[in-house]
Amino acid sequence: MKHYDYLIVGAGLFGATFAYRARQAGKRCLVIDKRPQVGGNLYCEEMEGIHVHKYGAHIFHTSNKEVWNFVNSIVEFNRYTNSPVANYKGKLYNLPFNMNTFYQMWQVTTPKEAQAKLDEQRREALEAMQQAGVDAPRNLEEQAIALIGRDIYEMLIKGYTEKQWGRKCTELPAFIIKRLPVRMVYDNNYFNDAYQGIPIGGYNKLIDGLLEGADVKTSTDFFADRTHWESMADKIVFTGKIDEYYDYRYGTLEYRTVRFEEEVIDTPNYQGNAVVNYTEAEVPYTRVIEHKHFEHFGEAVYNLKKTVISREYSTEWKGESEPFYPVNNDRNTALYEQYRTLAEQEERVIFGGRLAEYKYYDMAPIVERVLNMEV
Ligand code: UDP
Repeated sequence: MKHYDYLIVGAGLFGATFAYRARQAGKRCLVIDKRPQVGGNLYCEEMEGIHVHKYGAHIFHTSNKEVWNFVNSIVEFNRYTNSPVANYKGKLYNLPFNMNTFYQMWQVTTPKEAQAKLDEQRREALEAMQQAGVDAPRNLEEQAIALIGRDIYEMLIKGYTEKQWGRKCTELPAFIIKRLPVRMVYDNNYFNDAYQGIPIGGYNKLIDGLLEGADVKTSTDFFADRTHWESMADKIVFTGKIDEYYDYRYGTLEYRTVRFEEEVIDTPNYQGNAVVNYTEAEVPYTRVIEHKHFEHFGEAVYNLKKTVISREYSTEWKGESEPFYPVNNDRNTALYEQYRTLAEQEERVIFGGRLAEYKYYDMAPIVERVLNMEV
């Protein structure tokens, strides 16, 4: 039986990038994944000539030139720019929060007027914090109102966030909302990063390029025969759930998952944008993704007669489907720390990625971490 330098458990972005780097260093890798295909949550399926992001929309963005050049050396990326629109009770607002949003919300047209309105709105949160004798927001609600004021919080944040996380904004950590920029210019580009895009030809090309030269086995569950797989390599790169790796000995970490309701629609252009967020609590889904807009721009949208959309429903992960978002509250953070202490003592196991590090990771930092690792 062939012996490998690395057994890589999980063919998602961390595992595939690690495999690529290891192979470049002349190492032999075996990559196993329990799903029938590689790519983890980046996996796309072609439907009606459109790459459908089967496990949720992924938009690559980074300011790290090395990371950008690296992924582009595997597959060229297009010029997609993420500009989601929020739909609140049938009215549309641009995201991230910028002069367009402030105009739509308050009919203010200059940065000065918008700033005055924001200051007035923020005062409430700042006064509440002063009264409580704290100098930083204690939860997501306080953070949101301190950042953007009550109007936007109530209309564009509260319902969406409570649907996404299944928890009250007062019970969620402030850092989640810090991802959202506030801009005093008319700029609907969601990300602040210097580079963003989607691989031309879809994410499967990126993953396939990263995995080239590695031995890959899909539909192969590490936990079904752990001793066997562990014996096949000198070192193990584990990208699955860290609590499962340790047989849940301290308890189970919580995750949110997403259920996708896909629909093929007999129209070339359904919503005119890749991402529309439904921010009111009454609409059961959080957002609607129209996949063709990630790769077909302008007139090219009409080259394909049909379109594919997915409605995203966010629910608590119960073990039956795929875990998506770690829930980084106090309980889970403390539990993860216990597992991390065990992981740090391992000599032949590397833990990496969203599930093994229990971290709300974007794609680029995953690639960056692997590029900075010794292989
Ligand atoms: N968010 C919100 N309203 C929106 C979009 C985002 O309140 O219309 C908040 C929400 O709390 C969410 C966080 O911003 O959890 C981060 O959202 P983002 O879309 O950046 O995260 P993703 O789910 O795409 O990783």
